[in-house]
Amino acid sequence: MAKKSKGEIHAELYYECCARFVEQARRGEYDEAIDTALESLEFVPVVATYLGKTAGEVPRFESIDFILKYSPLFLHQRSLDILSDFLKSKRSVARKLPHDALGELELACCQILDAHRAWNYLVTRESVSESELCQALGEPRDQWTWVTSNWEQLGLLLRDSESQPNRLRLIGSFSQRVRGKCPFCGAMGTGGLYKLLAEIKCPRCQRPSRYVIVSLQA
Ligand SMILES: [Zn+2]
Repeated sequence: MAKKSKGEIHAELYYECCARFVEQARRGEYDEAIDTALESLEFVPVVATYLGKTAGEVPRFESIDFILKYSPLFLHQRSLDILSDFLKSKRSVARKLPHDALGELELACCQILDAHRAWNYLVTRESVSESELCQALGEPRDQWTWVTSNWEQLGLLLRDSESQPNRLRLIGSFSQRVRGKCPFCGAMGTGGLYKLLAEIKCPRCQRPSRYVIVSLQA
């Protein structure tokens, strides 16, 4: 069997990281998933050269897209800094990419500031309507709806659709301990908000599930 080239080996390691962060994100372990996506950066330079030669073009790197999207939403400044160091120290790699990664990083750095402002506003209030949020934080409105709709999808924000206009409220701080309930067997448990929002194996019925948050007090 022919010996694998450095390009092939790095490509395998890179795709292995991708499979891992996709799975971690599916389980709701975003902290870990962002770290894995950062780990994959070390393989990007060789893979970019390898794909450029063998496939004729360099694709977007899934892990860079993942860091750009999720770091702002989880207020992970450190990962944006690491990506910035990477892109700036590897200019020849950045130039090979089919998109303006440095431009998109700049946008992500604005988004994390927006996310911080939205978080600070929401965390000190019981609930807020979208127009209130927009009025308090300023135009354009899109930047707030981007943050709030993504937080809603991630289970960090609740939209009370009974009230008109809809009111938004955070379901807690990132590290807060909360009480949750297994959706299958009803077992109650307490834990960090992050941990309960992630997929866990219920200690009573052993089924993998995401606990339903029943109270923000543990
Ligand atoms: Zn259970």
